[in-house]
Amino acid sequence: MGLSKWVFLIFAIHLFVAKHISSNPVLSPDELAQIPVNFLDVAKKPEIRDWMIDIRRRIHENPELGFEEFETSKLIRAELDRLGISYNYPVAVTGIVGFIGTGEPPFVAIRADMDALAMEERVEWEHKSKVPGKMHACGHDAHVAMLLGAAKMLQEYRHELQGTIVLVFQPAEEGSGGAKKMLEAGAIKNVDAIFGLHVSPAHHIGVVASRPGPTLSGSGFFEAIISGKGGHAALPQHTIDPILAASNVIVSLQHLVSREADPLDSQVVTIAKFQGGGAFNVIPDSVTIGGTFRAFSKESFAQLKQRIEEVVSAQASVQRCNATINFNADNKIIYPTTVNDKDLHEYFQIVAGNMLGPQNVREIQPVMGAEDFSFFAEVIPGYFYFLGMKNETQGPLESGHSPYFKVNEDVLPYGAALHASLATKYLLQHQPSPKRSIHDEL
Ligand SMILES: [Zn+2]
Ligand SMILES: [Zn+2]
Repeated sequence: MGLSKWVFLIFAIHLFVAKHISSNPVLSPDELAQIPVNFLDVAKKPEIRDWMIDIRRRIHENPELGFEEFETSKLIRAELDRLGISYNYPVAVTGIVGFIGTGEPPFVAIRADMDALAMEERVEWEHKSKVPGKMHACGHDAHVAMLLGAAKMLQEYRHELQGTIVLVFQPAEEGSGGAKKMLEAGAIKNVDAIFGLHVSPAHHIGVVASRPGPTLSGSGFFEAIISGKGGHAALPQHTIDPILAASNVIVSLQHLVSREADPLDSQVVTIAKFQGGGAFNVIPDSVTIGGTFRAFSKESFAQLKQRIEEVVSAQASVQRCNATINFNADNKIIYPTTVNDKDLHEYFQIVAGNMLGPQNVREIQPVMGAEDFSFFAEVIPGYFYFLGMKNETQGPLESGHSPYFKVNEDVLPYGAALHASLATKYLLQHQPSPKRSIHDEL
């Protein structure tokens, strides 16, 4: 790594800290603005960039589902050991919490999720998934690599850090709420703020996007079993047809958003699963349907959940069927709305603007996708942003959860540098105020 860059970076931090903790903190915007720029320069150097690419590819080849990220976790710990970074493990089964800095306040966390999806990769490339039916199709392999890249840079000047940077590697983001378990295990105890990112094929490389306040919706899943009485398809009078009942349930559920919700309050109800019957001439005993519901406010979310329950059971009974409904199927849990802290939004715009140029820091509308980062952001100030990776010259990128999903690995230095910059500057700007001396009292 370029020694001169490090010297400059450390110099800039020293200068900043010296001024900040002095009685008359006059901050030079230029000195502050230089830190993110330097981190990006360092992250783009082969020592960091190629190292991250290698890690990302190793994780990509061996995708693991939520709470099963044992090899991924082992790989991360091996790298942290090599870097001399201390950590707690296991936290929430496979999670890891690392520490860089003084071990004293302030504490700021940067987070990555580690899990893959239960789907077959269709991208033909050298580092394709080696595990049938599993794929990193959401970019969490890149998230881990970027957080490790930040850790590697930060560890280089750990003695200069004015507080503690907490590295949160969490399991099971995809529906099972690994963040909630990390939280319950004390992963962000004493932490003052947390930052998280997600790679985005929708934005160009070198562009970041987010917003203050509610950013990603609250999300829940449900599965309903509608039971009737099976029999001969030609003699429906001797049966109670659950397929017709389930069909009416699905149609009625569409009215929750179109007829009951405020059109200005974004909500979604989608039935994504319909399973029942196996022959052309047999009416089955039961049908299973399932789907997801989304809303931004707690009230709307609770209302949707209650109405889904009522509509499923009442509409099933119209056709003499019984219905049971489960909001916890496949261990999926309800995710709260991801709400970005307004002060951190201002802060993010400055740091990311210094690094990428203000024109590349975009404000977006809220999106109906969900993130379990929301659990962290419910208890401490949190900030979640999208990191663009689109580059037309390298061909189109599919959206997350597509079997053709690809990561543009040029994104890795941007994520690592943003993590490192956001954490470093946060510590600098949140120094405890100096204790008043006896002299002051007089
Ligand atoms: Zn995902
Ligand atoms: Zn994801």
